[in-house]
Amino acid sequence: MTKRAYYNDGALSCEAVVLDCVAVEGGYEILTDVTSIFPESGGQLSDTGRIGDAVISHAREDGELVWHMADRAIEKGIKVTIVADQEPRMDHTCQHSGEHILSGLASKLFGAVNVGFHMAEDYATIDLDTLLTHEQIQQLQREANRAVQRNVPVSCVVVQGEELENITLRKQAKGLTGDIRIVYFDEGNVDSCTCCGTHVALSGEIGYIKITSHMKYKGGTRIWFACGMRAVEDSLKNQDIVDTLAVRFSAKAEDVVSAVIRQGDELNAAKHQLRERTQQLQKYVAAELLEGAENINGTRLVMSLQQGGQMNELKTLAEKVTEQPDALAVLFAKNGDTLMYQLARGKGVKHSVRELIQAVNAAVGGKGGGRDDFAQGSAPISGASDVEGTVEQIRNYCKAVLKG
Ligand SMILES: [Zn+2]
Repeated sequence: MTKRAYYNDGALSCEAVVLDCVAVEGGYEILTDVTSIFPESGGQLSDTGRIGDAVISHAREDGELVWHMADRAIEKGIKVTIVADQEPRMDHTCQHSGEHILSGLASKLFGAVNVGFHMAEDYATIDLDTLLTHEQIQQLQREANRAVQRNVPVSCVVVQGEELENITLRKQAKGLTGDIRIVYFDEGNVDSCTCCGTHVALSGEIGYIKITSHMKYKGGTRIWFACGMRAVEDSLKNQDIVDTLAVRFSAKAEDVVSAVIRQGDELNAAKHQLRERTQQLQKYVAAELLEGAENINGTRLVMSLQQGGQMNELKTLAEKVTEQPDALAVLFAKNGDTLMYQLARGKGVKHSVRELIQAVNAAVGGKGGGRDDFAQGSAPISGASDVEGTVEQIRNYCKAVLKG
């Protein structure tokens, strides 16, 4: 078994003897008799650090052994100094300790059980089995920070597995044997559970616990949270967002939300008005196009190539044109490097535009389809494309089809 030097006081360094060294993909795995490097377990990330001159990028548990992933080999039997990197340890310890406080208080306040914990380098989550309201989340956050502010002690005791059934814990672990470590926050007033992670000695070291987000998850609640410097960085980032919006909207920070909502409402009203005006305008454009259309065998062939516009505007125009039963609309619009087209027929026209659009697709190198009375498509336009010439070719093709 590998003795854990960090177990009681969170020690970052220790002296050890190398017991084994195995070449693996990407480096070497080193086993020592004792280690101060925390291996990934219980949802907490692995420490990084050094064993002698070797850089340790990760450590893993294999039963009671800890294997360290190293960038170089170290001979068996050699005495080494092991040092865990302080900053990541402090960060992981902080998140993990914050998780205890949030989970302990969620249980005490709302009877919500922690059913999952995940820690990554840039976020941490807790899954609770109970759906909490926004107000409850806020209450949880306030109580968690009161526990931080009270600077309560964090203590560990080691008991034997069989003693566990006589001890009341937040999470009653079953089937554990041998030495079991129990962690108490404020002697159990905040939290108590079996745990192998690293913890702060006093809750005040966490500094700040921030719930950054929450959502309904599997009938319960998933909470995203940040502790210590992560929480500070998150607050700074959010303050920047609010400040930028406040400048952009010429509003005080507390008025930003109403300013954004107001502008959204104005934008929606303007879009609605634009849609109505466009519809009115399309009526005139349609009348003009029908006026200039060629009549072939009783069908008015309405073709046009517009600059700019959106597909839905082209669709509205095609609908207006084909309100006339004898109209066949073949409408194009160039928008940036895309050519859009809408084909539609009036009620009295027999030719299927679903068939006609196949010829258009082939001529412009585009994709499109639809029904017998209505079809649409688009094609990319390259710098060398002669769109006007191609539209003329399509006109001639349509005329030939209508002439039969
Ligand atoms: Zn723990």
